[in-house]
Amino acid sequence: MDHYYNGIIDTHAHYLEHAFEEDRDQVLELQRENGIIRIIENAVDLPSCASAIALAERFDHVSAAVGIHPEDVVGLPEDWLDQIARFAGHPGVVAIGEIGLDNYWDTPRDLQNDVFTRLLELAADLGMPVEIHDREAHDEVMEAVRRYKPSGCLHRFSGSVEMAKEAVASGLVLGIGGALTYKKSVDEKAVVQELPLDCFILETDCPYLSPTGYRGKRCTSDMISIVVDEIASLKGETPEKIIEVTSDTAKRVFRLP
Ligand SMILES: [Zn+2]
Repeated sequence: MDHYYNGIIDTHAHYLEHAFEEDRDQVLELQRENGIIRIIENAVDLPSCASAIALAERFDHVSAAVGIHPEDVVGLPEDWLDQIARFAGHPGVVAIGEIGLDNYWDTPRDLQNDVFTRLLELAADLGMPVEIHDREAHDEVMEAVRRYKPSGCLHRFSGSVEMAKEAVASGLVLGIGGALTYKKSVDEKAVVQELPLDCFILETDCPYLSPTGYRGKRCTSDMISIVVDEIASLKGETPEKIIEVTSDTAKRVFRLP
């Protein structure tokens, strides 16, 4: 990368993934040097909830989100929800995530629905924001949003301008990452152009979804600088303005330190 901007918050990362097994600590330190002021590590299952919290304890620029990913809902122990509730009480935890619905993989839909709605209820009970995964499940996710009125974000937003407006009116913000830079991401670009800047937060979903120019490479938080340039050009604003507004929004939504 030829430039890194300062002051960026990566609101959605998976540094616990195997891709970072060899050099996780060094990569996390490097992110701080490359201008990333905070990373929200999203757990996907019960073991990674504990590991995400441990990561937040070891790195003061890392916070954790605890939840069950829709692809990981099979085979949960009976007390899974109590376990998540206990994890959520840790001071390093800022959100319930990653939770949601996925119609791309063939995980049983009734089970996905049950886990998702229980976690939305838990977030409401605890007064915590959520990080929602929506893959090819726009209608079902919006039904749940209407019913449970969560705060937080729709991560890797891939819906229409109309859906974006409804989600924002309901109190959510939209996670924008590497996918915005892809040529085929026509809807994503339209959403960024049409909605006000304070509806968006920055994210990676790393090690996945590397921006254009880095496809096939392991994604890291510092690649968000490329996404910032794309948003800046779509909105006719400076990169500094994009970072100022999105980081303010992330701090507000997740009550970050
Ligand atoms: Zn994710």
